[in-house]
Amino acid sequence: MTLQYRAAVLHSPMTPMPVETITAAELKPSDVLVRIRAAGLCHTDLEVIQGSLRYPLPIVLGHEAAGIVEQVGLSARGVEPGDHVVLSWNPHCGHCFHCDLDTPILCEQYLSEGPKGRSFDGECRAWLSDGRPLQQLMFLGCFGEYCVVSDQQAVAVPKEIPFDRACLIGCGVMTGAGAALNLGAIAHGDTVMVIGCGAVGLAAVQGARLAGAGAIIAVDIDSAKLGLALRMGATHGVDASKDDTLGVAKRETAGRGADVVIEAAGSASAFRVTTEAVRPGGHVIWLGKIDVNNDVSFRWGSLMQEKRIRRVSYGNARPRRDFPLLARAYLEGELMLDELISRRITLDEINDGFDALKRGETIRSVITFD
Ligand SMILES: [Zn+2]
Ligand SMILES: [Zn+2]
Repeated sequence: MTLQYRAAVLHSPMTPMPVETITAAELKPSDVLVRIRAAGLCHTDLEVIQGSLRYPLPIVLGHEAAGIVEQVGLSARGVEPGDHVVLSWNPHCGHCFHCDLDTPILCEQYLSEGPKGRSFDGECRAWLSDGRPLQQLMFLGCFGEYCVVSDQQAVAVPKEIPFDRACLIGCGVMTGAGAALNLGAIAHGDTVMVIGCGAVGLAAVQGARLAGAGAIIAVDIDSAKLGLALRMGATHGVDASKDDTLGVAKRETAGRGADVVIEAAGSASAFRVTTEAVRPGGHVIWLGKIDVNNDVSFRWGSLMQEKRIRRVSYGNARPRRDFPLLARAYLEGELMLDELISRRITLDEINDGFDALKRGETIRSVITFD
């Protein structure tokens, strides 16, 4: 039986995405068909819309989603129909050089197939109504009513967590909270600075709290976002448009600098602040992105003194371990997700949702499917 469903399709950068009826592929043995119930609008999707992140087109965007398993392939493992799942965008082969080194985010198959916008096996899983193959962002493409994914991308979570909150775990929350919790950089009582208080930065603030940080200095230029950061565990809010960010880092640490600085703003100036604000021997974690062809310059002295600088893409995620853990943290009141959702919209409102994200008005807009 051929499944047809509605999805938003990006045909060319900087143009609105029409919602079209597309056709899903038959399930391969290890595939899982997921009925999408909620999908968040992430900055990475916006980068593709704006053309700073280049993928083959036409493409279905969307890589932060939760839904219900509808059907599983003959040899699919880990989930069964009816399971509630959060989707992972880091499938990995498990037996290449980097998988053996326990860095699945660098899996050779993941890195070679990802830029093509296809499924993990290099083939497509959806077609336009005229028969042309559709690409899918980050092995997903969740801005539609359904999504065909590989079994390892569908991660079961407790059914008690609502879909609109669960979806956030799939990208922004995993990225931010994982950076704070999974790298072992934060020791109990540490002073942690988080630069940029969007969804990822707010998750990093909460991850720092859960990791036992002493002081958490949140930095942004938006007072509403700083207010949220303070509610989520930040002990200090710094308005970078008028306050002295480096001065606060030094003042709160007897002049040494923060033990850990997490960057989640995605700007050259924010990257520069990180290495100035961290103490000698401290950890810098970069999460934000700029166009890959741009240069960033640093004062050489800010890189000295044994500083440990690390770029991290997905919070060192092990989705089958981390997604249920984060979901339970939400259900136990330890992880705030409700506050990250600025708007709930329909699939047909997706272009307005991205306009609002572009204007910096939202933490997360979440598409919900009824
Ligand atoms: Zn994302
Ligand atoms: Zn691999």
